[in-house]
Amino acid sequence: MLITDPRSLPRYDDTPMNYDVLIVGAGPVGLSLAIGLQSRGAENFLVIDQTRAFRPAGQMVDLLPNGLKALGVICPETLAALLAAGQKDSPTAPKGAWTRKNLQGATIRSVSLDFEDWVRRYGAGRLSLPWFELQTILRQQVAPEKIRVNCRFLDCRPSPTGVLCQVQENGAAALNPFAHWEPNPIQTEQSSSFPTPVQIQAKLVVGADGIHSAVRRAIYRGTPLEPWAQPQYSGWAGLGCLPALPVAAATAQTLRAEYFQGQRVVSLQNDRLPPTYPLGASPRMVIIDQGETRFGFLLQTPLPQGACADAGIETPAQVLTSAGFPPDVIELAQNADPERFFVRPYYQHLAGADLPSPLWSQGRVVLAGDAAHGMPPFIAQGANQGFEDGAVLAPALARLIAQGNLDHLDEISALFTDYETRRRPRIQQVQQATLESDSWSQTRWQAFCDQIYE
Ligand SMILES: Cc1cc2nc3c(=O)[nH]c(=O)nc-3n(C[C@H](O)[C@H](O)[C@H](O)COP(=O)(O)OP(=O)(O)OC[C@H]3O[C@@H](n4cnc5c(N)ncnc54)[C@H](O)[C@@H]3O)c2cc1C
Repeated sequence: MLITDPRSLPRYDDTPMNYDVLIVGAGPVGLSLAIGLQSRGAENFLVIDQTRAFRPAGQMVDLLPNGLKALGVICPETLAALLAAGQKDSPTAPKGAWTRKNLQGATIRSVSLDFEDWVRRYGAGRLSLPWFELQTILRQQVAPEKIRVNCRFLDCRPSPTGVLCQVQENGAAALNPFAHWEPNPIQTEQSSSFPTPVQIQAKLVVGADGIHSAVRRAIYRGTPLEPWAQPQYSGWAGLGCLPALPVAAATAQTLRAEYFQGQRVVSLQNDRLPPTYPLGASPRMVIIDQGETRFGFLLQTPLPQGACADAGIETPAQVLTSAGFPPDVIELAQNADPERFFVRPYYQHLAGADLPSPLWSQGRVVLAGDAAHGMPPFIAQGANQGFEDGAVLAPALARLIAQGNLDHLDEISALFTDYETRRRPRIQQVQQATLESDSWSQTRWQAFCDQIYE
Protein backbone atom coordinates (compact mmCIF):
# COMPACT_ATOMS: atom_id res chain seq x y z
CA MET A 1 0.00 0.00 0.00
CA LEU A 2 1.34 3.42 -0.93
CA ILE A 3 0.91 6.35 1.37
CA THR A 4 0.03 9.58 -0.35
CA ASP A 5 -1.80 11.47 2.37
CA PRO A 6 -0.23 12.05 5.78
CA ARG A 7 -3.62 11.62 7.37
CA SER A 8 -3.76 8.08 6.06
CA LEU A 9 -0.90 6.97 8.29
CA PRO A 10 -2.18 4.82 11.14
CA ARG A 11 -2.09 6.18 14.66
CA TYR A 12 0.29 4.65 17.14
CA ASP A 13 -2.24 2.11 18.40
CA ASP A 14 -3.36 1.03 14.93
CA THR A 15 -1.78 -1.64 12.77
CA PRO A 16 1.51 -0.20 11.51
CA MET A 17 2.50 0.17 7.88
CA ASN A 18 4.78 -2.59 6.69
CA TYR A 19 7.75 -2.01 4.43
CA ASP A 20 10.65 -4.16 3.35
CA VAL A 21 12.99 -1.20 3.77
CA LEU A 22 12.47 2.12 5.51
CA ILE A 23 15.12 4.68 4.57
CA VAL A 24 15.37 7.51 7.08
CA GLY A 25 16.67 10.66 5.37
CA ALA A 26 16.14 11.98 1.84
CA GLY A 27 19.62 13.46 1.57
CA PRO A 28 21.98 12.40 -1.21
CA VAL A 29 22.74 9.05 0.41
CA GLY A 30 19.18 8.02 1.35
CA LEU A 31 17.93 8.96 -2.11
CA SER A 32 20.76 7.16 -3.89
CA LEU A 33 19.91 4.03 -1.92
CA ALA A 34 16.26 4.39 -2.87
CA ILE A 35 17.27 4.70 -6.53
CA GLY A 36 19.49 1.64 -6.22
CA LEU A 37 16.63 -0.40 -4.76
CA GLN A 38 14.06 0.87 -7.22
CA SER A 39 16.26 0.24 -10.27
CA ARG A 40 16.75 -3.35 -9.11
CA GLY A 41 13.04 -4.04 -8.88
CA ALA A 42 12.43 -3.51 -5.16
CA GLU A 43 9.04 -1.88 -4.65
CA ASN A 44 8.09 -2.04 -1.01
CA PHE A 45 10.28 0.70 0.42
CA LEU A 46 9.70 4.19 1.79
CA VAL A 47 12.00 7.18 2.29
CA ILE A 48 11.05 9.57 5.07
CA ASP A 49 12.51 13.01 5.79
CA GLN A 50 11.91 15.49 8.56
CA THR A 51 11.94 18.49 6.27
CA ARG A 52 8.58 20.19 5.85
CA ALA A 53 9.19 20.67 2.16
CA PHE A 54 12.13 20.39 -0.20
CA ARG A 55 13.63 23.82 -0.61
CA PRO A 56 17.03 25.31 -1.37
CA ALA A 57 19.56 24.71 1.38
CA GLY A 58 23.17 23.75 1.68
CA GLN A 59 26.49 24.36 0.07
CA MET A 60 28.29 23.29 -3.10
CA VAL A 61 29.17 19.62 -3.18
CA ASP A 62 32.04 18.34 -5.31
CA LEU A 63 31.38 14.96 -6.85
CA LEU A 64 34.70 13.27 -7.38
CA PRO A 65 35.61 10.26 -9.54
CA ASN A 66 35.03 7.70 -6.80
CA GLY A 67 31.57 9.12 -6.02
CA LEU A 68 30.62 9.30 -9.69
CA LYS A 69 31.78 5.73 -10.26
CA ALA A 70 29.73 4.61 -7.25
CA LEU A 71 26.68 6.42 -8.64
CA GLY A 72 27.23 4.58 -11.92
CA VAL A 73 27.00 1.30 -9.99
CA ILE A 74 23.88 2.44 -8.14
CA CYS A 75 22.10 3.46 -11.35
CA PRO A 76 23.68 4.48 -14.70
CA GLU A 77 20.66 6.67 -15.60
CA THR A 78 21.09 8.65 -12.41
CA LEU A 79 24.74 9.20 -13.15
CA ALA A 80 23.78 10.40 -16.65
CA ALA A 81 21.28 12.87 -15.17
CA LEU A 82 23.91 14.27 -12.81
CA LEU A 83 26.50 14.56 -15.56
CA ALA A 84 24.00 16.45 -17.70
CA ALA A 85 23.19 18.80 -14.82
CA GLY A 86 26.84 19.33 -14.07
CA GLN A 87 27.03 20.92 -17.52
CA LYS A 88 30.29 19.21 -18.13
CA ASP A 89 30.33 20.28 -21.74
CA SER A 90 29.04 23.79 -21.22
CA PRO A 91 31.31 26.80 -21.66
CA THR A 92 30.31 27.93 -18.15
CA ALA A 93 31.48 24.71 -16.48
CA PRO A 94 34.41 25.43 -14.16
CA LYS A 95 37.76 25.16 -15.85
CA GLY A 96 41.26 26.00 -14.79
CA ALA A 97 42.48 25.06 -11.34
CA TRP A 98 41.70 25.48 -7.66
CA THR A 99 45.01 26.38 -6.14
CA ARG A 100 46.08 26.60 -2.55
CA LYS A 101 48.66 29.33 -2.08
CA ASN A 102 50.68 30.77 0.73
CA LEU A 103 50.49 34.45 1.51
CA GLN A 104 53.42 35.16 -0.77
CA GLY A 105 51.37 33.77 -3.68
CA ALA A 106 53.39 30.56 -4.08
CA THR A 107 51.41 27.43 -4.94
CA ILE A 108 51.17 24.82 -2.17
CA ARG A 109 48.80 22.45 -3.97
CA SER A 110 46.66 22.65 -7.08
CA VAL A 111 43.61 20.74 -8.31
CA SER A 112 42.34 20.82 -11.89
CA LEU A 113 38.70 21.86 -12.29
CA ASP A 114 38.52 20.58 -15.86
CA PHE A 115 36.17 17.58 -16.12
CA GLU A 116 38.15 15.97 -18.92
CA ASP A 117 41.43 16.13 -16.97
CA TRP A 118 39.79 13.97 -14.32
CA VAL A 119 38.35 11.58 -16.88
CA ARG A 120 41.78 11.13 -18.45
CA ARG A 121 43.44 10.45 -15.12
CA TYR A 122 40.80 8.49 -13.21
CA GLY A 123 38.23 7.32 -15.73
CA ALA A 124 35.52 9.60 -14.29
CA GLY A 125 35.14 13.36 -14.00
CA ARG A 126 34.57 15.91 -11.29
CA LEU A 127 31.39 17.96 -10.87
CA SER A 128 30.33 20.75 -8.53
CA LEU A 129 26.63 21.00 -7.75
CA PRO A 130 24.71 22.81 -5.03
CA TRP A 131 23.55 20.29 -2.38
CA PHE A 132 19.91 21.15 -3.14
CA GLU A 133 20.35 20.56 -6.87
CA LEU A 134 22.01 17.23 -6.14
CA GLN A 135 19.11 16.31 -3.86
CA THR A 136 16.54 17.48 -6.43
CA ILE A 137 18.03 15.45 -9.29
CA LEU A 138 18.19 12.35 -7.12
CA ARG A 139 14.66 12.93 -5.84
CA GLN A 140 13.33 13.20 -9.37
CA GLN A 141 14.61 9.69 -10.02
CA VAL A 142 12.50 8.17 -7.24
CA ALA A 143 8.76 7.53 -7.59
CA PRO A 144 7.17 10.46 -5.71
CA GLU A 145 4.92 8.29 -3.55
CA LYS A 146 8.01 6.58 -2.15
CA ILE A 147 9.21 9.78 -0.46
CA ARG A 148 7.42 11.20 2.50
CA VAL A 149 8.40 14.59 3.91
CA ASN A 150 7.50 16.16 7.23
CA CYS A 151 8.02 12.78 8.79
CA ARG A 152 10.62 12.72 11.54
CA PHE A 153 12.11 9.48 12.82
CA LEU A 154 12.09 9.47 16.62
CA ASP A 155 12.98 6.00 17.74
CA CYS A 156 12.80 2.32 16.89
CA ARG A 157 12.70 -1.02 18.59
CA PRO A 158 12.80 -4.62 17.40
CA SER A 159 9.43 -6.28 16.87
CA PRO A 160 8.82 -10.02 16.44
CA THR A 161 8.89 -9.67 12.65
CA GLY A 162 10.92 -6.53 11.97
CA VAL A 163 11.59 -3.08 13.38
CA LEU A 164 8.92 -0.80 14.75
CA CYS A 165 9.73 2.85 14.10
CA GLN A 166 8.11 5.74 15.85
CA VAL A 167 7.80 8.81 13.66
CA GLN A 168 6.23 12.21 14.04
CA GLU A 169 4.41 14.01 11.26
CA ASN A 170 3.43 17.61 10.70
CA GLY A 171 5.68 18.95 13.44
CA ALA A 172 5.37 22.54 14.62
CA ALA A 173 7.22 24.82 12.23
CA ALA A 174 9.70 26.22 14.71
CA LEU A 175 10.79 22.74 15.71
CA ASN A 176 11.14 21.27 12.28
CA PRO A 177 13.77 23.20 10.37
CA PHE A 178 15.50 21.96 7.26
CA ALA A 179 19.05 21.86 8.43
CA HIS A 180 20.78 18.73 7.37
CA TRP A 181 24.10 19.44 9.04
CA GLU A 182 22.93 21.44 12.02
CA PRO A 183 22.12 19.84 15.37
CA ASN A 184 18.50 18.97 15.61
CA PRO A 185 16.81 21.33 18.09
CA ILE A 186 14.73 18.49 19.41
CA GLN A 187 16.59 15.30 19.86
CA THR A 188 14.74 12.27 21.18
CA GLU A 189 12.28 13.95 23.46
CA GLN A 190 8.78 14.61 22.26
CA SER A 191 7.15 17.97 22.42
CA SER A 192 3.58 18.39 23.51
CA SER A 193 3.09 20.69 20.52
CA PHE A 194 3.53 17.72 18.17
CA PRO A 195 0.77 15.40 17.08
CA THR A 196 0.78 11.91 18.56
CA PRO A 197 3.55 9.81 17.02
CA VAL A 198 2.66 7.18 14.47
CA GLN A 199 4.48 3.98 13.75
CA ILE A 200 5.96 2.37 10.69
CA GLN A 201 7.09 -1.20 10.63
CA ALA A 202 9.89 -2.36 8.34
CA LYS A 203 11.91 -5.49 7.88
CA LEU A 204 15.02 -3.32 7.52
CA VAL A 205 15.79 0.27 8.43
CA VAL A 206 18.58 2.31 6.84
CA GLY A 207 19.62 5.36 8.87
CA ALA A 208 20.74 7.89 6.25
CA ASP A 209 19.73 10.80 8.44
CA GLY A 210 22.98 12.70 8.49
CA ILE A 211 25.65 13.56 11.04
CA HIS A 212 23.16 14.14 13.90
CA SER A 213 21.46 10.82 13.16
CA ALA A 214 18.51 9.90 15.34
CA VAL A 215 18.78 6.32 14.06
CA ARG A 216 22.36 6.15 15.35
CA ARG A 217 21.19 7.39 18.74
CA ALA A 218 18.47 4.74 18.78
CA ILE A 219 20.75 1.80 18.00
CA TYR A 220 23.66 2.90 20.23
CA ARG A 221 21.44 3.50 23.25
CA GLY A 222 22.24 1.09 26.09
CA THR A 223 25.25 -0.38 24.23
CA PRO A 224 29.01 0.16 24.67
CA LEU A 225 28.71 2.61 21.75
CA GLU A 226 26.41 4.97 23.64
CA PRO A 227 29.20 7.57 24.17
CA TRP A 228 29.41 7.86 20.34
CA ALA A 229 25.67 8.25 19.79
CA GLN A 230 26.15 12.00 19.36
CA PRO A 231 28.70 13.23 16.81
CA GLN A 232 31.90 14.81 18.10
CA TYR A 233 32.90 18.38 17.36
CA SER A 234 35.99 18.19 15.13
CA GLY A 235 37.62 21.29 16.60
CA TRP A 236 37.10 23.09 13.28
CA ALA A 237 34.43 25.42 11.98
CA GLY A 238 33.57 27.09 8.70
CA LEU A 239 32.76 30.80 8.80
CA GLY A 240 31.72 32.35 5.56
CA CYS A 241 29.73 34.63 3.39
CA LEU A 242 28.75 34.07 -0.24
CA PRO A 243 28.97 36.71 -1.59
CA ALA A 244 30.33 39.31 0.80
CA LEU A 245 29.58 43.02 0.36
CA PRO A 246 31.68 44.66 -2.40
CA VAL A 247 35.27 45.52 -1.49
CA ALA A 248 37.18 48.62 -2.64
CA ALA A 249 38.24 48.48 -6.30
CA ALA A 250 41.92 48.60 -5.30
CA THR A 251 41.41 45.62 -2.96
CA ALA A 252 39.74 43.61 -5.72
CA GLN A 253 42.60 44.42 -8.03
CA THR A 254 45.25 43.38 -5.48
CA LEU A 255 43.47 40.10 -4.65
CA ARG A 256 43.24 39.19 -8.33
CA ALA A 257 46.80 40.18 -9.14
CA GLU A 258 48.43 38.54 -6.11
CA TYR A 259 46.41 35.39 -5.73
CA PHE A 260 43.80 34.61 -8.41
CA GLN A 261 45.87 35.21 -11.53
CA GLY A 262 42.93 34.43 -13.79
CA GLN A 263 41.39 31.62 -11.71
CA ARG A 264 37.95 31.81 -10.06
CA VAL A 265 38.73 30.26 -6.71
CA VAL A 266 41.81 30.22 -4.50
CA SER A 267 42.63 28.96 -1.00
CA LEU A 268 45.08 30.93 1.11
CA GLN A 269 47.10 29.73 4.03
CA ASN A 270 49.88 31.30 6.05
CA ASP A 271 52.70 28.77 6.15
CA ARG A 272 54.70 31.08 8.45
CA LEU A 273 52.26 31.61 11.31
CA PRO A 274 53.24 34.30 13.83
CA PRO A 275 54.49 32.87 17.16
CA THR A 276 51.59 34.62 18.90
CA TYR A 277 48.96 32.81 16.80
CA PRO A 278 46.71 31.11 19.40
CA LEU A 279 44.75 28.42 17.57
CA GLY A 280 47.42 25.83 16.70
CA ALA A 281 46.66 24.60 13.18
CA SER A 282 46.64 27.06 10.33
CA PRO A 283 43.31 28.46 9.13
CA ARG A 284 42.46 28.25 5.41
CA MET A 285 40.68 31.06 3.60
CA VAL A 286 38.82 29.97 0.45
CA ILE A 287 37.97 32.98 -1.71
CA ILE A 288 35.68 32.89 -4.72
CA ASP A 289 35.81 35.64 -7.31
CA GLN A 290 32.20 36.59 -8.05
CA GLY A 291 32.94 39.39 -10.52
CA GLU A 292 33.45 43.15 -10.34
CA THR A 293 34.34 43.92 -6.70
CA ARG A 294 32.48 40.99 -5.19
CA PHE A 295 34.08 37.97 -3.53
CA GLY A 296 32.71 35.21 -1.40
CA PHE A 297 34.73 33.55 1.33
CA LEU A 298 34.80 30.48 3.52
CA LEU A 299 37.26 30.54 6.40
CA GLN A 300 37.98 27.06 7.74
CA THR A 301 39.59 27.50 11.09
CA PRO A 302 40.29 25.70 14.33
CA LEU A 303 37.89 27.06 16.92
CA PRO A 304 37.29 25.88 20.48
CA GLN A 305 33.79 24.45 20.75
CA GLY A 306 32.61 27.14 23.13
CA ALA A 307 33.85 29.82 20.76
CA CYS A 308 31.57 28.59 17.96
CA ALA A 309 28.48 29.71 19.81
CA ASP A 310 30.03 33.14 20.41
CA ALA A 311 31.49 33.54 16.91
CA GLY A 312 30.09 36.49 15.01
CA ILE A 313 30.59 38.50 11.90
CA GLU A 314 33.78 40.01 13.33
CA THR A 315 35.37 36.60 14.05
CA PRO A 316 36.86 35.86 10.59
CA ALA A 317 38.77 39.15 10.54
CA GLN A 318 40.03 38.49 14.08
CA VAL A 319 41.23 35.00 13.16
CA LEU A 320 42.90 36.24 9.97
CA THR A 321 44.60 39.09 11.81
CA SER A 322 45.99 36.76 14.47
CA ALA A 323 47.19 34.37 11.72
CA GLY A 324 49.07 37.18 9.96
CA PHE A 325 46.93 37.51 6.81
CA PRO A 326 47.41 40.67 4.73
CA PRO A 327 45.05 43.67 4.99
CA ASP A 328 43.29 43.01 1.65
CA VAL A 329 42.14 39.58 2.77
CA ILE A 330 41.13 40.93 6.17
CA GLU A 331 39.15 43.69 4.47
CA LEU A 332 37.24 41.10 2.51
CA ALA A 333 36.34 39.29 5.74
CA GLN A 334 35.29 42.59 7.31
CA ASN A 335 32.89 43.07 4.42
CA ALA A 336 30.80 40.02 5.34
CA ASP A 337 27.14 40.65 4.65
CA PRO A 338 25.21 40.18 7.94
CA GLU A 339 22.33 38.66 5.95
CA ARG A 340 24.53 36.00 4.44
CA PHE A 341 27.15 35.36 7.10
CA PHE A 342 27.20 31.86 8.60
CA VAL A 343 29.10 29.92 11.25
CA ARG A 344 29.12 26.16 10.79
CA PRO A 345 30.78 23.91 13.38
CA TYR A 346 32.12 20.75 11.73
CA TYR A 347 31.13 17.51 13.41
CA GLN A 348 32.39 14.01 12.83
CA HIS A 349 31.57 10.41 13.64
CA LEU A 350 34.86 8.58 13.36
CA ALA A 351 35.04 4.94 12.33
CA GLY A 352 38.19 4.37 14.41
CA ALA A 353 39.71 0.91 14.65
CA ASP A 354 39.52 1.24 18.46
CA LEU A 355 35.70 1.22 18.36
CA PRO A 356 33.86 -2.09 18.54
CA SER A 357 32.26 -3.82 15.57
CA PRO A 358 29.64 -3.65 14.34
CA LEU A 359 29.70 0.12 14.41
CA TRP A 360 27.16 0.66 11.69
CA SER A 361 24.39 -1.83 12.37
CA GLN A 362 22.37 -3.51 15.01
CA GLY A 363 19.90 -6.27 14.21
CA ARG A 364 17.83 -5.11 11.25
CA VAL A 365 19.05 -1.50 11.31
CA VAL A 366 22.05 -0.18 9.39
CA LEU A 367 23.67 3.26 9.04
CA ALA A 368 24.95 4.88 5.83
CA GLY A 369 26.47 8.19 4.75
CA ASP A 370 27.10 10.87 7.35
CA ALA A 371 25.06 8.93 9.92
CA ALA A 372 27.70 6.21 9.74
CA HIS A 373 30.85 8.26 9.21
CA GLY A 374 30.34 12.04 8.97
CA MET A 375 33.51 14.10 8.63
CA PRO A 376 34.53 17.74 8.03
CA PRO A 377 34.34 18.73 4.35
CA PHE A 378 38.07 19.41 3.89
CA ILE A 379 38.71 16.86 1.14
CA ALA A 380 35.17 16.77 -0.28
CA GLN A 381 34.59 13.10 0.48
CA GLY A 382 31.43 13.15 2.68
CA ALA A 383 28.83 12.62 -0.03
CA ASN A 384 31.25 10.71 -2.24
CA GLN A 385 31.88 8.16 0.49
CA GLY A 386 28.13 7.99 1.10
CA PHE A 387 27.61 7.04 -2.54
CA GLU A 388 30.25 4.34 -2.13
CA ASP A 389 28.14 3.00 0.76
CA GLY A 390 25.14 2.98 -1.58
CA ALA A 391 27.05 1.10 -4.27
CA VAL A 392 27.67 -1.70 -1.76
CA LEU A 393 24.37 -1.61 0.15
CA ALA A 394 21.78 -1.10 -2.59
CA PRO A 395 22.63 -4.17 -4.70
CA ALA A 396 23.03 -6.31 -1.57
CA LEU A 397 19.69 -5.21 -0.09
CA ALA A 398 17.93 -5.69 -3.42
CA ARG A 399 19.37 -9.20 -3.64
CA LEU A 400 18.27 -10.01 -0.10
CA ILE A 401 14.74 -8.91 -0.95
CA ALA A 402 14.67 -10.77 -4.28
CA GLN A 403 15.87 -13.96 -2.58
CA GLY A 404 13.11 -13.72 0.03
CA ASN A 405 15.62 -13.50 2.89
CA LEU A 406 14.10 -10.62 4.85
CA ASP A 407 13.24 -12.94 7.74
CA HIS A 408 16.61 -14.63 7.81
CA LEU A 409 18.52 -12.79 10.50
CA ASP A 410 21.72 -14.68 9.73
CA GLU A 411 21.60 -13.46 6.11
CA ILE A 412 20.91 -9.90 7.25
CA SER A 413 23.76 -10.04 9.73
CA ALA A 414 26.11 -11.43 7.06
CA LEU A 415 25.13 -8.63 4.68
CA PHE A 416 25.71 -5.88 7.25
CA THR A 417 29.00 -7.48 8.36
CA ASP A 418 30.20 -7.66 4.76
CA TYR A 419 29.20 -4.01 4.20
CA GLU A 420 31.13 -2.81 7.24
CA THR A 421 34.12 -5.05 6.52
CA ARG A 422 34.39 -3.66 3.01
CA ARG A 423 33.73 -0.04 3.79
CA ARG A 424 35.15 0.70 7.23
CA PRO A 425 38.91 0.46 6.52
CA ARG A 426 38.47 2.82 3.57
CA ILE A 427 36.43 5.24 5.65
CA GLN A 428 39.14 5.20 8.32
CA GLN A 429 41.69 6.08 5.67
CA VAL A 430 39.54 8.89 4.25
CA GLN A 431 38.77 10.32 7.69
CA GLN A 432 42.46 10.27 8.57
CA ALA A 433 43.26 12.11 5.35
CA THR A 434 40.49 14.62 6.09
CA LEU A 435 42.05 15.50 9.42
CA GLU A 436 45.76 15.22 8.56
CA SER A 437 46.35 15.74 4.85
CA ASP A 438 46.86 19.45 5.27
CA SER A 439 50.39 18.73 6.42
CA TRP A 440 51.07 16.02 3.83
CA SER A 441 53.59 16.48 1.05
CA GLN A 442 52.28 16.78 -2.50
CA THR A 443 53.60 13.26 -3.18
CA ARG A 444 51.73 11.72 -0.27
CA TRP A 445 48.56 13.61 -1.16
CA GLN A 446 48.79 12.51 -4.79
CA ALA A 447 49.30 8.88 -3.78
CA PHE A 448 46.19 9.10 -1.59
CA CYS A 449 44.14 10.64 -4.43
CA ASP A 450 45.32 8.00 -6.88
CA GLN A 451 44.21 5.29 -4.48
CA ILE A 452 40.82 6.82 -3.61
CA TYR A 453 39.75 8.05 -7.04
CA GLU A 454 40.85 4.96 -9.00
C1 LIG B 1 30.38 23.21 3.91
C2 LIG B 1 30.26 21.79 3.44
C3 LIG B 1 30.81 21.44 2.21
C4 LIG B 1 30.74 20.11 1.77
N1 LIG B 1 31.32 19.81 0.59
C5 LIG B 1 31.30 18.51 0.16
C6 LIG B 1 31.89 18.15 -1.08
O1 LIG B 1 32.42 18.98 -1.81
N2 LIG B 1 31.86 16.84 -1.45
C7 LIG B 1 31.27 15.87 -0.66
O2 LIG B 1 31.28 14.70 -1.05
N3 LIG B 1 30.68 16.20 0.52
C8 LIG B 1 30.68 17.49 0.94
N4 LIG B 1 30.11 17.82 2.13
C9 LIG B 1 29.48 16.78 2.92
C10 LIG B 1 28.15 16.40 2.36
O3 LIG B 1 27.27 17.51 2.30
C11 LIG B 1 27.55 15.31 3.24
O4 LIG B 1 28.52 14.30 3.42
C12 LIG B 1 26.36 14.69 2.58
O5 LIG B 1 25.33 15.65 2.44
C13 LIG B 1 25.86 13.53 3.44
O6 LIG B 1 24.71 13.01 2.85
P1 LIG B 1 23.68 12.19 3.76
O7 LIG B 1 22.55 11.86 2.84
O8 LIG B 1 24.39 11.10 4.47
O9 LIG B 1 23.22 13.21 4.89
P2 LIG B 1 22.55 14.65 4.76
O10 LIG B 1 22.92 15.32 3.51
O11 LIG B 1 22.81 15.32 6.05
O12 LIG B 1 20.98 14.31 4.66
C14 LIG B 1 20.30 13.75 5.78
C15 LIG B 1 18.81 13.89 5.54
O13 LIG B 1 18.15 13.29 6.67
C16 LIG B 1 17.10 14.12 7.12
N5 LIG B 1 16.90 13.84 8.55
C17 LIG B 1 17.72 14.15 9.57
N6 LIG B 1 17.21 13.71 10.74
C18 LIG B 1 16.04 13.09 10.44
C19 LIG B 1 15.05 12.42 11.21
N7 LIG B 1 15.15 12.29 12.54
N8 LIG B 1 13.95 11.92 10.58
C20 LIG B 1 13.81 12.04 9.22
N9 LIG B 1 14.72 12.67 8.45
C21 LIG B 1 15.84 13.18 9.04
C22 LIG B 1 17.58 15.54 6.82
O14 LIG B 1 16.49 16.43 6.70
C23 LIG B 1 18.34 15.34 5.50
O15 LIG B 1 17.50 15.51 4.37
C24 LIG B 1 30.11 19.13 2.58
C25 LIG B 1 29.53 19.47 3.81
C26 LIG B 1 29.60 20.80 4.24
C27 LIG B 1 28.97 21.14 5.56
